[in-house]
Amino acid sequence: MQDEPLTKKPSIVAFDGDDTLWFHEHVFVTAQERIRAIMQQYVSESLWSETFSRIEIENLRHYGYGVKSFILSVLESATVAAPGRLTSQEVSQILEIGKSMLQQDVNVLQGAHDALTSVRAEGCRLVLITKGDPVEQSYKLEASGLVELFDVIEIVREKTPDTYRAILAKLSGTADTFVMVGNTIKSDVLPVLDIGGRAIHIPHELVWEHEAAPAPLGHPRFAQAPSLEAVPPLIANWVAAH
Ligand SMILES: [Mg+2]
Repeated sequence: MQDEPLTKKPSIVAFDGDDTLWFHEHVFVTAQERIRAIMQQYVSESLWSETFSRIEIENLRHYGYGVKSFILSVLESATVAAPGRLTSQEVSQILEIGKSMLQQDVNVLQGAHDALTSVRAEGCRLVLITKGDPVEQSYKLEASGLVELFDVIEIVREKTPDTYRAILAKLSGTADTFVMVGNTIKSDVLPVLDIGGRAIHIPHELVWEHEAAPAPLGHPRFAQAPSLEAVPPLIANWVAAH
């Protein structure tokens, strides 16, 4: 394509964290089930889902992503969908659900360590780019045992084209040598293709409803990998092609 910037040999490879290197979304799915069980005494499932979904999105601009934001949105939704109904014991129960979410073990996805090591062996700098609450994300990264494999850690508020541009500027890198690997089309793939970088999508069984988007199949700088194990060969092919 005439207006496609030419790609060069990859030199910076970034990985997403949640549901790319470690399991994440299931923690929220389980917590939502426990909260629905409390709320169903006072509100229909459809009204609860609709209220919570709307308030959770509205609150992202105030609180960002993460467990604390999630719990505040649950409590706010309860005051909207079932005003005055929750008992103080139920409020405590919801706060406890939040604390248990923050204390869960971090389960690293199979092949994460090997994939990172192999990509490093191709001579690429490794970056972790994860969005969310800095305290929660740093805890998960530390607990994952993967921290020392990264050259740079970036915990960001959102993943937009400008976010990626700013990270590349900081690393003195350019989009045509940049590869992003992640499970979310909306955050890990589309903004990276937008700035001229390459993106590898590893689908995960659970995707947050607000992050769902169709894959840009056929895009010349996009690839899909069935698992983390399939990532290093893709990078190695791009390295070898230059
Ligand atoms: Mg993710």
